[in-house]
Amino acid sequence: SQIFVPLTLLLLGIVTILLLTISSRDIYAPPPDMYGIVLDAGSSHTSMYIYKWPADKLNDTGVVSQHSEYHVKGGGISSYAGKPGAAALSLEDCLKNATMEIPKARHQLTPIYLGATAGMRLLNISDPKRCASVLKEVGEKIKSYPFNFKGAAIISGQKEGAYGWVTVNYLLENFIKYGFIGRWLRPGKPTVGALDFGGASTQITFVNQDHAENPEEQMALRLYGQNYTLYTHSFLCYGRDQMLLKLLAQILKSQSSGPTVSHPCYPEGLVVNVTLRSVFDSPCTTSLRPTPYDPEATVTLKGTGEYAFCRGNMSEIFDFQNCSFSKCSFDQVFQPNVSGNFMAFSAFFYVHAFLEHITGVAVNTPAKLEEATGALCKMSFNEMFRKAQKEGSRLQDYCAASVFINELLLKAYAFDEESFTKIDFQKKAGDTSVGWALGYMLILSNLVPAESLSLRKALLP
Ligand code: AMP
Repeated sequence: SQIFVPLTLLLLGIVTILLLTISSRDIYAPPPDMYGIVLDAGSSHTSMYIYKWPADKLNDTGVVSQHSEYHVKGGGISSYAGKPGAAALSLEDCLKNATMEIPKARHQLTPIYLGATAGMRLLNISDPKRCASVLKEVGEKIKSYPFNFKGAAIISGQKEGAYGWVTVNYLLENFIKYGFIGRWLRPGKPTVGALDFGGASTQITFVNQDHAENPEEQMALRLYGQNYTLYTHSFLCYGRDQMLLKLLAQILKSQSSGPTVSHPCYPEGLVVNVTLRSVFDSPCTTSLRPTPYDPEATVTLKGTGEYAFCRGNMSEIFDFQNCSFSKCSFDQVFQPNVSGNFMAFSAFFYVHAFLEHITGVAVNTPAKLEEATGALCKMSFNEMFRKAQKEGSRLQDYCAASVFINELLLKAYAFDEESFTKIDFQKKAGDTSVGWALGYMLILSNLVPAESLSLRKALLP
């Protein structure tokens, strides 16, 4: 018993020291990851992406990955124009979510960006005052959360294309890669082009060594000490939703507008009513407004599922005639020949996946794309519904979207037998969604530096 008392005291001492060590580590050691947030304020809806990376590997490639994503309910922020407070309110749920997903100790160190794309570009054309107030209120809302607010801005179409390209090539580790000898290496792989099909605009971006006939479509980037010259163009009004409006405006114009109009891209058996306002309110269709124009007038659209007529109407929304350069994609936009591999994401992925699912055709050549599109466009609404019920209200537009992709990829961008097979239709690389958001954060936070890593490390104290 003489030894029992000192032993108990010794044990108590050890336990106390252990407890103190563990709790002080809990208090003082920061969680091992850093976080960054991007709100992608698209035309059809807003998505929030939370990215993370190990705190000690700030500038290495391949280390930033997606932690989680959250989709805001309701429309894009531009749809709340003229309803003060509503756009800001729409973001509350997702911002609250971010405060729960990111450890508290990291909140103030977490940069948060909001980037708005073509929906807000269009609102800026139709109503710049309302556009500015939407942007201001969403910025103020984000500022009221404990993160490091880095701005709410409209991204130009050209930058949207370039950031998408950065995302794709960062995720594929085409810039630098951690080699097995334990050093960062330039993998010597060619970069991959980016094809983005959003709700209100579509972007094409790839490295181009040829002479750029129009400097507006050229962009120089320096990443990890390497220079890249990109060809990039964003076609405003050629995103999925806006091109559907342009097509409808074209169909209404081409038929002597009675109260009922045949829609060759809608499946047979589908009948829908639309107001003229819903078609002609957008800056993408105002020039096609009928005269006289009664925005409240309604038109009944009857689907006829006529593939050839659908293609005919669709080709009318592209200008393939005029070009003041040696070659153009369409609408007088210069484009060099496509080269190399491409990743096609956002609605390119959705439409491609749907086409393969509903027709059973592997869409990997231009001929297969045409074959599957023809088969889809001939299906009645009932047949489509039976085969892909869960698509709900999107079902009616897949024929038009597929015909559009045919025109855009094969005729406008001129992908051929060989180059088409080099397009990879994807929405994710690993667990990370492919889009402009990651590239935007990487560039703006300097997570992808301009100078090479060895040079950078040599410059650091
Ligand atoms: P986003 O990339 O979110 O801007 O969407 C681009 C376009 O794809 C919009 O017209 C959306 O309505 C459409 N879209 C979004 N999600 C899906 C989906 N799961 N299936 C089909 N189309 C979609």
